[in-house]
Amino acid sequence: MKNDINEDYDIYVARRKQLVAELKEMKITNPEVLNAIENTPRHLFIDQSLLAFAYENKAYQIGCGQTISQPYTVALQTQLLEPRAGEKVLEIGTGSGYQSAILAEMGMNLFSVERQYTLYSIAKTRLNDLGYNNVHCYFSDGFTGLPEIAPFDKIIVTAGSASLPQALMHQLKIGGIMVIPMGQQQNMYIYKIKRISMADFRSEKIENCAFVPMISGVESQPL
Ligand code: SAH
Repeated sequence: MKNDINEDYDIYVARRKQLVAELKEMKITNPEVLNAIENTPRHLFIDQSLLAFAYENKAYQIGCGQTISQPYTVALQTQLLEPRAGEKVLEIGTGSGYQSAILAEMGMNLFSVERQYTLYSIAKTRLNDLGYNNVHCYFSDGFTGLPEIAPFDKIIVTAGSASLPQALMHQLKIGGIMVIPMGQQQNMYIYKIKRISMADFRSEKIENCAFVPMISGVESQPL
């Protein structure tokens, strides 16, 4: 006979399959991305009062005025990144750690930066407890990137920036891809930026999106 934990587990497995089916209808075609969504327990990255809604295609508050992105946005950004196992990836905006877990599931060597100390600390513990030991969490300002670890094969930014952060451009390998939401709050788009050479970048405007703003400096006070 199953215990409650296994029954709960079965419920979430079924809901994740349903979510994957929804994402397939919405331009998410990369089988590895869909596989990562199917294997990642999003219900462990949100407030426990929202458990019943964990696999809805919706964004939720995660504290400190921040949000966990909706699964479609996570899947789209991940797909645009064209991740290949073993790549060195920089993520700006750890937040709940859900996007980090998706990239970890795909075998990335992930370096994730968060500017809110409380969120950094919770996500770091959570990712560690879940065994994602290929994620390295940093409490710092994403506008400066991680020059000591650069260059990166890929960079993913999960907060909206008014313009392209110069430091991040410099930390992208030639041939590398950066996926970043840019613009003003009511007029923001996801961009895919490819570094062609030392000086040349090719930018592709993908689609309209909503993100919390990318803010410079760090916030160490618990809110
Ligand atoms: N990827 C996250 C989404 C979090 S929302 C998830 O899956 O849950 C965006 C996050 O970016 C917030 O936690 C916010 O605090 C963080 N952020 C905003 N500006 C930042 C900056 N300059 N450096 C690092 N993190 C930043």
